[in-house]
Amino acid sequence: MLIDAGIGTRTVALRMSHAGSSLKDVRAICLTHLDSDHFKFGWGRFVSERNLRVFCHHSRVPQLLQDVPRLRGLVTGFSGAFEPVDGLRAEPISLAHDQLGSHGFVFDSGGCRLGYATDLGVVPDELVERFAGLDLIALESNYDPMMQMASARPWFLKQRIMGGRGHLSNQQALTALRRILDRCEARNLRLPAHIVLLHRSQQCNCPDLVRQLFARDARIAPRLTLAEQYERSPWLTVRPGQVFPGEQMMLPWG
Ligand SMILES: [Zn+2]
Repeated sequence: MLIDAGIGTRTVALRMSHAGSSLKDVRAICLTHLDSDHFKFGWGRFVSERNLRVFCHHSRVPQLLQDVPRLRGLVTGFSGAFEPVDGLRAEPISLAHDQLGSHGFVFDSGGCRLGYATDLGVVPDELVERFAGLDLIALESNYDPMMQMASARPWFLKQRIMGGRGHLSNQQALTALRRILDRCEARNLRLPAHIVLLHRSQQCNCPDLVRQLFARDARIAPRLTLAEQYERSPWLTVRPGQVFPGEQMMLPWG
């Protein structure tokens, strides 16, 4: 299953083959929202030829079918928990993003639990609650506020990104992760084996800055992976409660 399909089929196929996997194995796509960096219309042909299932929030189904009519019959709108592929349960979380919002997910497969959230203007309490006790957390860390302000981007765009319905800054992502980890410790829940930072801006962020900032928390530093836009991440392997290479759920990020 893919989470979002904002990169073209050829690039995804190439990256999956480099990871020892194949695009042909994909049976479903879960969409967080329909912005073009999360779903490219070019996927329509691939999806319809292979009869893949596409999942998006029920409020987005009409728009998706209008944009890509060949997906008719292949799209399922979710409102609560759903099962994109057999044995994998997905629970959506509503997130504030632009007018229509976005969705994060908690995925559960064989007791391995993964939280994924990108494109959110603020971190809702519900997300902090539901991301406690997972095996892997993937969270957006989009921009550095100083770099955003100093950039040549037009003011309306800066406002859109920073105004609470856009993206998370590094600091907001760090604060959210600390709250999640605090909650794990307070309740004696497992800490995640991996923390993956997603959706980093090329223009308004810097990987060194991100690493420096997140290294301030000794719980985060050893678990940290920064996802890249133009290359895939290494395989991350989890099993409930511990890092255990070679078994259970394997997740190629990027
Ligand atoms: Zn996005």
